[in-house]
Amino acid sequence: MATIPAVFEQPSPSSPSLPALVPTIAIAHGDGIGPEIMDAALRVLEDAGAEFQAVPISVGEEVYRAGYSSGISDEAWDVLADADALFKGPITTPLGSGYKSLNVTLRKTLGLFANVRPCRSLAPSVSTLHPELDIVIVRENEEDLYAGIEHRQTHDVYQCLKLVSRPGCERIVRHAFEYAKANGRKKVTCFTKSNIMKLTDGLFQQVFTEIGEEYPEIEQDHMIIDIASARLAARPQDFDVIVTSNLYGDIVSDIAAELTGSVGLGASANIGERLSMFEAIHGSAPDIAGNGIANPSGLILAGVMMLTHLGQGKTAARIHNAWLRTIEDGLHPGDIYREGSSKERLGTEAFADAVIERLGSKPQTFTPVDYEDVAPIPDRAQETPAPRNRAQRKLEGIDVFVMSEADPETLARDLQVATAGLIPLQMITNRGVKVWPKGNPATFCTDHWRCRFQPQGHLSLNKPMIVEIQRRLAAAGIDFIKTEQLYSFDGEAGYSLGQGQ
Ligand code: NAD
Repeated sequence: MATIPAVFEQPSPSSPSLPALVPTIAIAHGDGIGPEIMDAALRVLEDAGAEFQAVPISVGEEVYRAGYSSGISDEAWDVLADADALFKGPITTPLGSGYKSLNVTLRKTLGLFANVRPCRSLAPSVSTLHPELDIVIVRENEEDLYAGIEHRQTHDVYQCLKLVSRPGCERIVRHAFEYAKANGRKKVTCFTKSNIMKLTDGLFQQVFTEIGEEYPEIEQDHMIIDIASARLAARPQDFDVIVTSNLYGDIVSDIAAELTGSVGLGASANIGERLSMFEAIHGSAPDIAGNGIANPSGLILAGVMMLTHLGQGKTAARIHNAWLRTIEDGLHPGDIYREGSSKERLGTEAFADAVIERLGSKPQTFTPVDYEDVAPIPDRAQETPAPRNRAQRKLEGIDVFVMSEADPETLARDLQVATAGLIPLQMITNRGVKVWPKGNPATFCTDHWRCRFQPQGHLSLNKPMIVEIQRRLAAAGIDFIKTEQLYSFDGEAGYSLGQGQ
């Protein structure tokens, strides 16, 4: 592990040169190219006059190898408990089912709810198809398919739960609008797939519309993720701030970063209520690790975001302007080096030196940045929330998921015999498509069936009846995997219909 420059060490209480309250930054060098780019980035921050106390922590491969399947030790958690920020190099996630991604663990455990990724083209210095690209992606960071709740339910079928909460949507959408306000951005576009996932993505879109009403000065728009991604790749200049859920945000932010020239240029902030984490968007690049050729820009710019977040906007702008000047001068790491537009190909350390030499100078063709007046983004989720109106919830039915090799007609008959006198079977679907009653023989069926029971007319359902259905199915040898209750909320169905129902 690289040593931490002296300026980052704990100041003595009597030190006259440092302010009274110097933030504590946990430094994780990471794996692969991580130590190389972290050393380079720390040198730039040090020479620019960044003020913080650095505490190194061990995470990643060496910790996995030491027997921590999470990739982080108890000591590192202790450091993070007292730190103001985490500055992190990329981590290699070992292949194998025993290991969880440390990045996801950190984001979820530390409540880092917002992933903010600015992407900006650097034309003509860095070749790109889209010289006008200048967007910020605000990605929800804790929920969605990244809840990491997966099950193999039958021989054929595996499931991953997509969990979306109203507070989670409110918090990320509000952060996007507040970010736009604080940074003088004009428009926020929401990406969802609400035409297909009407409940989960529908909620995200609905919250976007609701919260958007509080920001009339900001233009707002909603787009379906597929056409939105296509437009983003073809006409990125149509976008300003994008807010979206976890998986879509993961994908579109890499597309946007690559459109600027290379993933090596991308930085991200993972914003939490107390501690925030700053990192490059790329991975540990094992293919080039140890060669001293990795582009440290993503991590340097993550450092810029960190300093701005910590109220050291002047130093942040000093670094960013020096970095822009370096790029403008045609001094480029290998991933963005192009004959013609670049002047010199630099390794990791030489590139950091070039940035350091330019500290104090401004770019000539790019617009210089100024972060002194960027107001901290309030986390309004922390304000005392208005009491929620709790909807009237009514149990309306039950979906029983069954593993069976039978055909739909046989399965329906067996289910009806087993549950005779209880609640009627309404429908059976296979992978979401209605196959009973009146299925289409062309529909391909797996061994995984959703069997919907719903009382008709004024008959009502209760929990003991659900237990009784399960008992009868078990007695009849019907192999049910799980049951899911169907609720309505203020009369509105809180469950999807079958495809073709
Ligand atoms: P990667 O981002 O590491 O590499 C993709 C390609 O981009 C490679 O060709 C690489 O050489 C190049 N590249 C990446 N960063 C570069 C840089 N700074 N300078 C020059 N070239 C650069 O993606 P991957 O290969 O899919 O993943 C490698 C490992 O990183 C995996 O274990 C993955 O889980 C992990 N990962 C970690 C993070 C993180 O810690 N935040 C993010 C993504 C991937």
